[in-house]
Amino acid sequence: MTSHKHAALIVVGHGSTTNPDSSEPTHRHADTIRRRGLFREVACCFWKEEPNMREVYEMVDSDVIYIVPNFISEGYFCQQVLPRELRLDGPTTQRDGKTIRYCDPVGIHPNMTRLLLQRADEVAPHVPREQTSLVIVGHGTSLNENSTKAIQDQVALIRAGHYGFAEVLDAYMEEAPFVKDWATLTTAPNVVVVPFFIADGLHSFQDIPVLLGMREEVGEALSESGVFHQNPHLLQGRSIYYSGAIGTESLMADVILDQVHDFDVKHGVQDTPGMANDEIKSSLAYWLNSGIDEIGEIAIITNTDGSYSLCHTADRGKDGLQVHHEAHDALYIARNDAAGTFRPLHSAPTLNRGWRLDLADLEELRLALDFFYPAAIGMARALEQEKLSAVPLRDLLGRQTGMYRFANNITDDQAHAMIGKTCANTKCLRRILWPLTATQPMAGAAASKTQPSHADNAIPLLCIEACTHVVSAARKVARENHEAKEKAAVG
Ligand code: SF4
Repeated sequence: MTSHKHAALIVVGHGSTTNPDSSEPTHRHADTIRRRGLFREVACCFWKEEPNMREVYEMVDSDVIYIVPNFISEGYFCQQVLPRELRLDGPTTQRDGKTIRYCDPVGIHPNMTRLLLQRADEVAPHVPREQTSLVIVGHGTSLNENSTKAIQDQVALIRAGHYGFAEVLDAYMEEAPFVKDWATLTTAPNVVVVPFFIADGLHSFQDIPVLLGMREEVGEALSESGVFHQNPHLLQGRSIYYSGAIGTESLMADVILDQVHDFDVKHGVQDTPGMANDEIKSSLAYWLNSGIDEIGEIAIITNTDGSYSLCHTADRGKDGLQVHHEAHDALYIARNDAAGTFRPLHSAPTLNRGWRLDLADLEELRLALDFFYPAAIGMARALEQEKLSAVPLRDLLGRQTGMYRFANNITDDQAHAMIGKTCANTKCLRRILWPLTATQPMAGAAASKTQPSHADNAIPLLCIEACTHVVSAARKVARENHEAKEKAAVG
């Protein structure tokens, strides 16, 4: 296998502003790969969470970047949204002296078969395969036109591999063959059901259990479902073994690496690794030496032995804090606020208190800070170097597709008011760097958000592109405009 010790790996996930489980597998697989030391840098980015696909490039300073979509199929996201947001020209993009390689999504790799078999054995241990129907479940419908193909391919591969199941079939939530018809679709006394999704969420926790008849109705709170731990479910004289989403399987980390390997083989990649830059880390070290020791709500303490400790700024100097030791713990410290509510916006001033994170070295510090405030260190460095470019709001709204395609139909005044309100509501600590258009600065309620507001001893939190909260708010205003127009036309 080609060495990637000179390269960065970026794993792209969908993420969610409401479901904390959506991005968890992507972060976990990235962490597994990071710990193996195969790449110089490993980062994640998301469509609906931070860092977004513009910001993530500021998190890595390798000259070669591999991008692997942690998506189940090809289609709208992998063929349109990701290339557009990541500014890709094709499988290989050359930009700003960097080589960016765009790999296939994990879900279409042939090795997914291995994962499905492993998951089936895990969920129904000691259950004879010859007395078991294996059902692979997808969403179906135009929401993801290629998801059925990815599942059908897996069904065909498992059937052709003669792995001993009584039968293997596909079923869908919203198109035939329907999941709700599982009892007539299958014939074996045992039925193993594996959702072919990247993450657990509404579909695997709630919708599919209802369609299978395991639950009367949708209702249990996300992440509190014990549905995967109650196997077998005895229904209609059969034993159902229900699994979590296939994307949560730990071997998915290997499938991500398989896609990188396949890219190299397919495109004849033979790199001559160059010198590493480490520019982001150097900037961080320089700031710390200059007395800059805060970022957002976090205090950075440099210990005499060269290690670092992080805590909430309000906890600086306090005893009795709960001590953590891994950079990756930052992800979980930052995940929920004090009330246990998910924090999709990391720069909201709602970081929990009462913890201390001890980190061995600068590399660990950089990683932890990227979990607390994704891409913030890299963006601050790029700003200092006058290399940071921001995306005008009109450009961002204008490139939206799907349900957000009308979001740009708001007036300038509405845009300024909407930004002022949205960013104020979130109390976001970032400073907006983007203008309305390339020639029009922010005005009205949005203007104050463009002014520096961080303390002299703090690394600034910057916003180079409006976040998903603003895009959603713009869509809402645009829809109200449309409805008002229609009403006026009728009246
Ligand atoms: S658009 Fe506003 S709320 Fe969203 S990240 Fe930027 S500054 Fe924060």
